[in-house]
Amino acid sequence: MNTEVVFIIIVVFLVADFIVERILEWVNMRAMAPVLPENLKGIYDEKEYARFQNYKRETNRFDLISSTFSFIVMMVFLCTGGFGWWNAWVVTWTDQAVLQTLLFMLGLSLVSGLLGLPFDWYATFHIEEKYGFNKTTMKTYGLDLLKGMLVSGVIGGLLLSAVVWFYEWAGSFFWLYAWGIVSVFSVFMAMFYSQLIVPLFNKQTPLEAGALRDKINAFAEKVSFKLDNIFVIDGSKRSTKANAYFTGFGPRKRIVLYDTLIKDLTEEEIVAVLAHEVGHNKKRHTVQFMLASVIQTGVILWLFSLFVNQPALSMALGGDRACFQLGLIAFTILYSPLSMILGLVMNAWSRKNEYQADAFAARYYDGESLISGLKKISVKSLSNLTPHPLYEWVYYSHPSLLKRIRAIGQVEAVDAE
Ligand SMILES: [Zn+2]
Repeated sequence: MNTEVVFIIIVVFLVADFIVERILEWVNMRAMAPVLPENLKGIYDEKEYARFQNYKRETNRFDLISSTFSFIVMMVFLCTGGFGWWNAWVVTWTDQAVLQTLLFMLGLSLVSGLLGLPFDWYATFHIEEKYGFNKTTMKTYGLDLLKGMLVSGVIGGLLLSAVVWFYEWAGSFFWLYAWGIVSVFSVFMAMFYSQLIVPLFNKQTPLEAGALRDKINAFAEKVSFKLDNIFVIDGSKRSTKANAYFTGFGPRKRIVLYDTLIKDLTEEEIVAVLAHEVGHNKKRHTVQFMLASVIQTGVILWLFSLFVNQPALSMALGGDRACFQLGLIAFTILYSPLSMILGLVMNAWSRKNEYQADAFAARYYDGESLISGLKKISVKSLSNLTPHPLYEWVYYSHPSLLKRIRAIGQVEAVDAE
């Protein structure tokens, strides 16, 4: 491989990625319906809907500024040989391969984190605040930042160290070992995420006894689903947006409801949303998704093992010979088109699963309650009700509200026959 060719490919990929994203954002903004579609009439009044449109326009304009800024920084850094320069400096500090990679990555993430911080701060305390979403305080925000850095530093650092260590020790088969440890780690995380990571940021309390709990139990019994772990999380600490999710599997599985969800939805609507989550579990979506991502990790690591020792990759970023960390950065960029395609497949699959979970909730609980619950959640989070089909196809892991309502209606119509 030729260094100049690799460099040109890297630049072309970065530019193409930036342009494609901007085009998608642009068509999506233009697709925003000035009046609400017929099926969604009544979920907003006119004033609320205008507010929604303003929020979307403002966040879109802001995203354009922040992404253009990071694109320019990346380009300047790349074209001036910034990666090679930083690497040359790092290797004078230590001969240890693991430490070199850690130091190299730490420097890059600190700089990119610092550059992104003002944008994130503005988005949270100006835009989200202005529209009444933000509930986070400066203190929570600062603590989140520190804890987030610490957690991702420790976890990312440990995994990266293991991969580099295997690379040094096992030669060209390092990817197999790396795959093993990354997979074991992701399964472990999926099982213990709620116990280990969530408590650092949120309080989780078991759902207290009462009418809601009784309704949930009755439903769980009806579909013979063992459901002992229902927790309420204090999402209201940071945002007014509402959600519910399923985590872990086997005996570790638990359902987590945001306190904001409990506040805004009726008991029937909550059970319907929960029935949707049970549907995911009954259809084994969680386990299948886990398996797919393990396979994906294996493919990525194998491809990486083919490229990492090519000097052209490191040299395209300004290095003087093949080295792990420069190879990693170059590979990440070169891999991006494939990653985009895999993302499309995963999103399409996820949307299919969402329809199945909705159908399960409609069939075994109540479609009408699910629809009204979903409407409330959409309104609360000001999600886009009329995304451009292309945008939805690329980015959406859940079908848009209108499509979900239509599909739930069809399930109910079939069952009524
Ligand atoms: Zn779902």
